[in-house]
Amino acid sequence: GPGPTVALEARQLVKEFRGFRATNGVSLDIHEGEIHAIIGPNGAGKTTLFNLLSGFLKPTSGEVRLFGQRIDTLPPHQIVRRGLSRSFQISSVFPSMTVRENLLVALQSRSRLPGQFWTPISRLETLGPQADAILADVGLAESHARLAADLSHGEKRQLEIGISLTQNPRVLLLDEPTSGMGSEGIARVIALVRQVARGRTVVLVEHNMSVVSELADRITVLQYGAVLASGSYEQVRQDPRVIEAYLGD
Ligand code: ADP
Repeated sequence: GPGPTVALEARQLVKEFRGFRATNGVSLDIHEGEIHAIIGPNGAGKTTLFNLLSGFLKPTSGEVRLFGQRIDTLPPHQIVRRGLSRSFQISSVFPSMTVRENLLVALQSRSRLPGQFWTPISRLETLGPQADAILADVGLAESHARLAADLSHGEKRQLEIGISLTQNPRVLLLDEPTSGMGSEGIARVIALVRQVARGRTVVLVEHNMSVVSELADRITVLQYGAVLASGSYEQVRQDPRVIEAYLGD
């Protein structure tokens, strides 16, 4: 039968910084519906690849395709409109607003059409049910009235993911969702990623190998800006090149 649908595709991606190739000819396929982890030693080029896939960096050469259509030539807001969204940095959260207000504002800015400079206040209330559904999805329903500033590190991560869900992405990119967390926060993020991955494609950069083994359907291992290995956790775990790369880290 036909192979899996490719949601996100990189072809011979290269990114040079003053002659240094942080990304050195990466090709990969992310299948629709999978959770795909990008791993590798420090300096392997994970962050650079993540930024290329989400359109925050333009490649020196090569292509990125979303459901077959080139996106590397588009500005980030158009890529978002086509169904790819990345977890936002915490700076996109308004600390003096409540959790629910943050989602309402994010939903409002998503629904605003280009050239429209204001949105009737009544519009925010019509977005309430959508905000509440996302709050439930990311496990923040009971925290809806708390100020974003008062959230724990883990809860802020939940809110960030909630804000990226306001774009209703088909493909969600998460940059180290467990960074800086203890075991309790990590367990919550694992459950959260599973929840948001229902009906979506998820790509995550992740250092924590137990998180990767629990979540990832497939893994791409980077080293020196290139793909060292790819496959299931069991496949890459037993790959001698991967073992060597990690021993040398
Ligand atoms: P990782 O996320 O796997 O740790 P990065 O993508 O952050 O790796 O970095 C890969 C390499 O590219 C590193 O050697 C880093 O120093 C270099 N690099 C990344 N961004 C830049 C930049 N803006 N300018 C110059 N070098 C960079």
